[in-house]
Amino acid sequence: MEIIEFEHPVARDILTGLRDRTTNSADFRMQARRLALMLAVETTRYLPTEPVQVETPLEATLGERLVEQPVLVPIMRAGMGMLEAFQIFLPGAPVGFVALRRDEETAEPIWFYRSLPDVRDRRMLILDPMLATGGTAEEVLADLFDRGADSAWLVCAVAAPEGISRLGHFDDLTIVTVSVDRELDEDWFIRPGLGDFGDRLYDGEPGNGQG
Ligand code: URA
Repeated sequence: MEIIEFEHPVARDILTGLRDRTTNSADFRMQARRLALMLAVETTRYLPTEPVQVETPLEATLGERLVEQPVLVPIMRAGMGMLEAFQIFLPGAPVGFVALRRDEETAEPIWFYRSLPDVRDRRMLILDPMLATGGTAEEVLADLFDRGADSAWLVCAVAAPEGISRLGHFDDLTIVTVSVDRELDEDWFIRPGLGDFGDRLYDGEPGNGQG
């Protein structure tokens, strides 16, 4: 396993806004989208290309084309907040959807939805903004590698050290994150973290609809 901490002043600024408890749902969604765009640029930086000839209106020249489209796998529901940003850069990428819920007693993941394209020999970009215990990610990664996936990138905004070490046994995994936070608390929230990412994306605000 490899870990890439995405170092960028704008990403740190956006993450601070996401952490801020006074950021409302509409702003949170917008900031999450901005951060996902930055993470999409960072993550797709490593995709292989091949040389191709292209005719400009003036002359022939050498260009490059992507040789593969990775499979995008948002982990529902928080990962859905990152999907559209990745599709801007990879419009031809197939998308698989997975949903697991956490057993409230044990924090272990329980599957309740899976819809995947053929992943054999493909690179996976797994979207989950919060890597907490790593239980869900471990389950999803094991399933994708069992199905023949070639390699996986797990893209998150914030990662807990506990989650990172739980995934350490996957050789063909790269984790991209903006921040490795301090720890998990006894309720399996990342500290300092930003709260429940899915709730903050989708719960909305009471009031007049103006955010
Ligand atoms: N999922 C979240 O949304 N937040 C956490 O702190 C941990 C898991």
